[in-house]
Amino acid sequence: MKNRMTSAALAALLCAVAAPALAQTPAKPAQVDFGNVKPPAPTSPFAKQAKALMAGKAFKTAKATLATGYDQTVADIVTLTEIPAPPFGETEKGKAFLAMLAKEGLTELETDAAGNVMGLRKGTGGGLLVVAAHLDTVFPASTDVKVRRDGDKLYAPGIGDDTVGLGSILAILRAINAAGIQTTSDILFVGDVGEEGPGDLRGMKELFFKGRYKDKIDAFISLEPSGPTVIVNGGVGSKRYKTTFKGPGGHSMGDFGTVNPAFALADAARQFGELKVPSDPRTVYNIGLLEGGTSVNSIPFAVAMTVDMRSSGAAELKAVEDAYLAILPKAVAAENAARSTKRGVISLDNKMVGDRPVGETAISSPFVQKLAAVGDALGKPMGYVAGSTDANIPMSLGKPAVTLGAGFVTFRGHSLEEGMEVNKDRDVESIATTMAQILMVAGAK
Ligand SMILES: [Zn+2]
Repeated sequence: MKNRMTSAALAALLCAVAAPALAQTPAKPAQVDFGNVKPPAPTSPFAKQAKALMAGKAFKTAKATLATGYDQTVADIVTLTEIPAPPFGETEKGKAFLAMLAKEGLTELETDAAGNVMGLRKGTGGGLLVVAAHLDTVFPASTDVKVRRDGDKLYAPGIGDDTVGLGSILAILRAINAAGIQTTSDILFVGDVGEEGPGDLRGMKELFFKGRYKDKIDAFISLEPSGPTVIVNGGVGSKRYKTTFKGPGGHSMGDFGTVNPAFALADAARQFGELKVPSDPRTVYNIGLLEGGTSVNSIPFAVAMTVDMRSSGAAELKAVEDAYLAILPKAVAAENAARSTKRGVISLDNKMVGDRPVGETAISSPFVQKLAAVGDALGKPMGYVAGSTDANIPMSLGKPAVTLGAGFVTFRGHSLEEGMEVNKDRDVESIATTMAQILMVAGAK
């Protein structure tokens, strides 16, 4: 079954799913088919608690601070956007964000081995919730990231994905500090590296597999560009390979009849393209890059394809990956049998270049129901989708984890025309929703 989400904001939210194709979309709202969008669940058992939280004096003070601090939040987003943060080049943006976290009174400030920056807001009763947004953008270091303002719109590559997430973290932190809100859980606020494609979630892998908090984190929320009515509770997994076929090469005429890696690649590509995959759970594959050869009249020494396979089902992802890996040696053997190997044989060099695990946090879990409660209390029930975000890693470990909207309206994510709208009243309501959700799961006093 297919459902359609027609929100451009949702398209932006699933930044790591939607990508350059969206950059070509005209300015009208993007229609993106993510498949399997689940309808809202019935009213959360925590809805009354959420209503009481948002009706309380402290929350109202915090929300008022979101409004008075709105210009500062936008200024923070502009400052951070204008520091380039290409994949593997997040250091300067991380330093600036860490200094901003320090200014808001966090303790245990640190930059970990991967380059994630973080600071702790102590709770009163134990437990550790991570609230993260990613530092990296998809844009190379040479990209002009100066913010341009046109009316109520701000344009710059990376401003939406995910600098608004960093801005929301600062806004929420200032707001709960100003209101003196205490939480039961400690909250670790993180600006993380490596969320976008080539980063392969290395920031999250450091945090959950190696860093000093790895066994202490109880729950995880990442913020990505979107409005406040969507919870990403499913993690689409992906496997990516760069597959290189190598051979002896030679002159196209003089060495005619010699094995040719391009034919082996073509054979493998054709077989890959014939694989049947399920639509539920949605499972897809692609050849995204083709490289190789030296000239039109040379048999190439090497040709390569970079492929992407995705699914929200772990078994289905493994099945398509296994099928791909089985095709490769067959294609090599077929080419070695089809032409002369006198000058050398076709060989395979297959490198995994991406590995994002599948995961899911159940809608029925208390964690998701506490988040859903905020929507129910506001009369705006949450919708549920699967995406490919930082939350994949904790989800795959069975930890309660989701991605929520940072609370701004953004557009044309991952394109040079990327931007955000500035609308104080609307944005304050959205950020307040996210703030209420964080406080629900952190246990606000
Ligand atoms: Zn993102």
